[in-house]
Order: sequence, then C-alpha cells, then structure tokens
Amino acid sequence: MKFRNFKMVDYVVYGRGSFNQLDEILQPQRNNDAPIVFLVDHYFQGKDLVNRVPVRGNDKIIFADVTYEPKTTYVDSIADQLKDEFGMVSGIVGIGGGSTMDLAKAVSLMMNNPGSSADYQGWDLVKHPGIYKAGIPTLSGTGAEVSRTTVLTGPTRKLGMNSDFTPFNQIVLDPELTRNAPVNQRFYTGMDCYIHCIESLTGTYLNEFSKAYGEKALELCRKVFLEKESWDDECDDMLMMASYAGGMSIAYSQVGVAHAVSYGLSYLLGTKHGIGNCIVMNHIEEYYPEGVAEFKRMVEKNGIDIPQGICKGLSEEQFDTMINVALGMKPLWENALGQDWEKIMTREKLRELYGKL
Ligand code: NAD
Ligand code: ZN
Repeated sequence: MKFRNFKMVDYVVYGRGSFNQLDEILQPQRNNDAPIVFLVDHYFQGKDLVNRVPVRGNDKIIFADVTYEPKTTYVDSIADQLKDEFGMVSGIVGIGGGSTMDLAKAVSLMMNNPGSSADYQGWDLVKHPGIYKAGIPTLSGTGAEVSRTTVLTGPTRKLGMNSDFTPFNQIVLDPELTRNAPVNQRFYTGMDCYIHCIESLTGTYLNEFSKAYGEKALELCRKVFLEKESWDDECDDMLMMASYAGGMSIAYSQVGVAHAVSYGLSYLLGTKHGIGNCIVMNHIEEYYPEGVAEFKRMVEKNGIDIPQGICKGLSEEQFDTMINVALGMKPLWENALGQDWEKIMTREKLRELYGKL
C-alpha cells in the first residue's frame, strides 16, 4: 500500500481525575469470571494509587519491574503465568511509564498468539488480535500510549512488535498521575517528546498530518520547559497532550539521528530511552542546529544533568556493535538525511560521534 492506513487507539478519555472512571470504562469488557489484570509500574507499590485501582472479583494486580526496559522473556513469563493461572483474562491494563505500557501491549498480544514475543519483533508479524488492552500513562513523553509498537529487547535485537493489533483499545490520560514524577525522570521522558518533534519536523518524511501534530507538541514542550517559571499542574496537563501529539506526529513520519544513535547505546550499555536520547542530542548540532541549541537551553533552565563520557574506555569491538545497531535503523536515517544517507553517515562519522558521548 502506498499510503499508510494508520490504525489508531479506539477510545481516549482525557482529564484530571479521569482515572476514577476506570471501573465504569472496564465494566463492559468483563467476560463472565475472566479477570482484568492490572500491570502497575513498581514505583507505585505501597502508594495511594494502588488503592484506587478498581479491582473486582478475581482481578489481579501485577507490579511491573521496569528496572530494565522490557524484555521478550519478561513478556513471555507474564503471559504464561496468566494462562496457567486463569486460562483466559478479560483484559490487561498497563499503568505506568512507557515501559509498563509497552509491557501491557505485548502481554495482551501474547495471550492470543503462539510462541515467544521475540518471534514477532518486526513489522506486521503478529497474526491475531490480542485481548482487550488499556494504557494509562504516569509519565509523559514517549507517545507509547498512541503508537502501533511495543519496544522489546529480545535475544538478538531491540525491536518493536509493530502491528495493527498493537495499539491500545482504550487510553486514560489523567495528568494528575504524573504529578510526583522526579524532576530528572520527567525531563528525560519529556525530552523524548521534544526530540520526536525535532526529528519529525526536520525529516524528509514530513507531511501535513505529521506537521500538524508535531508543531502542536513542540509548542507545548516549549511552554513547559522554557516559558513556565516553575512546574505546576498546567505543565502536567500540557506535557501529557504534547506526548500524545508527538506520538501521533511520528506515527505518520519517523524519528531520526538521536533515536538511531541512542538505540546503539541502549543495546550495548542498557542506557534507557529518554536519557539516552538526551545524551545523544547534546552532541548532534551538525544535524539539528536549532533543535540542539534549544534543547541545551531547556537543560539549563531546568537544572538537569546530562551524563557525559559514557563511552569512555569502550573497546573498538564495542563501538562496532553500537555502530551496527545504529546503521541498522535505515528508515530513521533516510528520514533524517535523505536517500543518500549512507554517503553522509559513514561508519567513521558514527565512530567519532559515539566517541564524544
Ligand atoms: P519508564 O517507563 O522506563 O519509567 C522510568 C522510571 O520512572 C521507572 O523507574 C518507573 O518506575 C518510574 N516512574 C513511572 N511513573 C512514575 C511516576 N509517576 N512517578 C515516579 N516515578 C515514576 O520511562 P519512560 O521514559 O516513560 O519510558 C521509556 C520506555 O518507553 C522505554 O522502554 C522505551 O523503549 C519505551 N518507548 C516506547 C515507545 C512506543 O512507541 N511504544 C516510544 C518511546 C519509548
Ligand atoms: Zn522516543
């Protein structure tokens, strides 16, 4: 198909306190005795939010360990555990940052598809719809709430399960849930959104659909990270919508240099997505001169530390591994640099860039 036929989230609810409506939203999804499983970011263990989760009957709360970004083995183990315990469940609700939302999407798919989630890393490999799934972000920025992918680290690669079955059936956007996020984490995840905008808006894949969302998301990021005197509720409101719009923008275009290079860091060193993107963004003014200058102003205004020297002491073999991972992300480079990207982004150039990080 020449034009992408973009599968979107089925239902969206937005607003402060909308989390309280979850019980009502889930009610029609309950099939007889099959429970709803709430996958909750382990940060909330022992916190008030857990008491507000609308647990009924034999529903179950599982705390998602997101110390590391989601792995295919973790997805498989949760899905197997649920199949053993319940046979079938009515739905999965992911409550947390991008990692927890991605886990919920992947577990939903693996409840109905045979084998391992690693078999489905790639594009349009998922054969059957998953079970009902809802996503509720507690951090804003990744756009995972709207995307058609769930990024997983498998035995051989870090790659999403990209498919029309991947988007959530329901998302609940309640900015109140992001209120207590630590300043650094909030910034790193927020910058994921800012970087999505810069990469989308300067990319060769840009079109009016992506631009409409990207420009709005960028405007909101600027308000939140540059114009506001200090953080308040309105910032949480705006950043949640920025994340949504930024996700919609890249859904119909692509990301670029920061993401491609950051994937290499993540694969070799386990660097997390948000902070990894920031580490790279700090050094790529050659590709995004205005975006990087503005990013640096945001870092300074918000008093954030961006780690330096994380590639110090790595062997040439390790640099090669990162370069291979980064160069494997062909659509990202083509979006960023055009069809002749291979002439521009050589192994030597990438080696030099990784050496600076
Ligand atoms: P995260 O989900 O990895 O969470 C980061 C940390 O913040 C964790 O320690 C978590 O426990 C904690 N946390 C979450 N909510 C909190 C809150 N309200 N208060 C305090 N702490 C909180 O971070 P993220 O940046 O949201 O997500 C990154 C992940 O998203 C990566 O795994 C990345 O691959 C994925 N991602 C997916 C997509 C997609 O389209 N599917 C897009 C971008 C990124
Ligand atoms: Zn991203």
